Amino acid sequence: MAKNRRWVIKAGSKMVCDGGPLLMRAWMLQVAQLKKKYNIDVIWVTSGAIAWAVARTNFKATKRTLPQKQALSAIGQPLVMDQYVLALQSANLLGSQVLLTAGDMKDPVRRKNLQNTLSELVKMKVIPILNENDAVATEEIKFGDNDSLAAKVAVMMKAERVVLMTDVEGLFDSDPNKNPDATLVRYRPKVGKAEFALADRKSISKVGTGGMYSKLLAAETAGKNKIITHLVKGDIPNNLLHIAQGTSIGTQFGGRDALAK
Ligand code: GLU
Repeated sequence: MAKNRRWVIKAGSKMVCDGGPLLMRAWMLQVAQLKKKYNIDVIWVTSGAIAWAVARTNFKATKRTLPQKQALSAIGQPLVMDQYVLALQSANLLGSQVLLTAGDMKDPVRRKNLQNTLSELVKMKVIPILNENDAVATEEIKFGDNDSLAAKVAVMMKAERVVLMTDVEGLFDSDPNKNPDATLVRYRPKVGKAEFALADRKSISKVGTGGMYSKLLAAETAGKNKIITHLVKGDIPNNLLHIAQGTSIGTQFGGRDALAK
C-alpha cells in the first residue's frame, strides 16, 4: 500500500519546556505550512507533561518515584495542552488530544479504534496531539520520552517520516561534550551496530527520559518499516520546512541522502 504523506513529529520534554509558548507557536506555523505547501498531514507527539508539572509545582525530590511521576504527568498534561491550543490557534489550526499506551497499539480492537480516530482527525484537518497516558502506563517514563511511541504510531499510521525533535543537533561521531572535534553524522541508510556504538546507553536527558539510544531504537523500528527518521534540534528555525524542502539538517536515517548527486 502506498505511504501517506503523513509525518509523525515528536517534541521532547526539554524542547517543550525550555522553548515554551513561542517555540510551540513556531512549530504550529510550520505544521500549517507543511499542509499548505506540501500536502503533508502531521500527527504530533509531545512529551513535557512531567517536566512542565515539575516546574509549576516546585517539586523538589530529585529521585522521583514512578507513582510521583505519573501524578506529575496528570498535572502537567492539561498545562502543556493549554499551550498547544494557543499555539494552534495562532496558526489558525485546531488540535485534539489523544493519550495512548503501547498496549493500545498491541490490542487489535484498541489499535483499530485508535487508527480510526487518528485517520478521522486527519481527514477533519485537525492536528492530533499525542502523549503516552502516563497515569496508566509507565513504559515511556521508564525509558524513552515518547521516542518509541512516535515510531510505533508512525508504523501504525503508515507514515512517510518520523521527526524526533530534541535538544541536540543529531547523532555525532563522538561525544560533542567531551570532544570539540566531534562531527555530526548527517546521513545513514539505516540504523545498525555502527550507529548504536555511537550512542551512550546511559545518556539520558535530565529533563525527559530519552537519550540518543532511545532515538536510535525508534529510528530502527521506523527503518524496518521503510519509514525515514530525522533527528533534529527542535529550536532551529524552520527545521520542519527544511526537511520538507530536502535540505540536509540534523541526522537522517533512510531515504535519499539530501546531499547525494
Ligand atoms: N510522557 C512523558 C511526559 O509527557 C514523557 C516524559 C519522560 O519520559 O520523562 O512527560
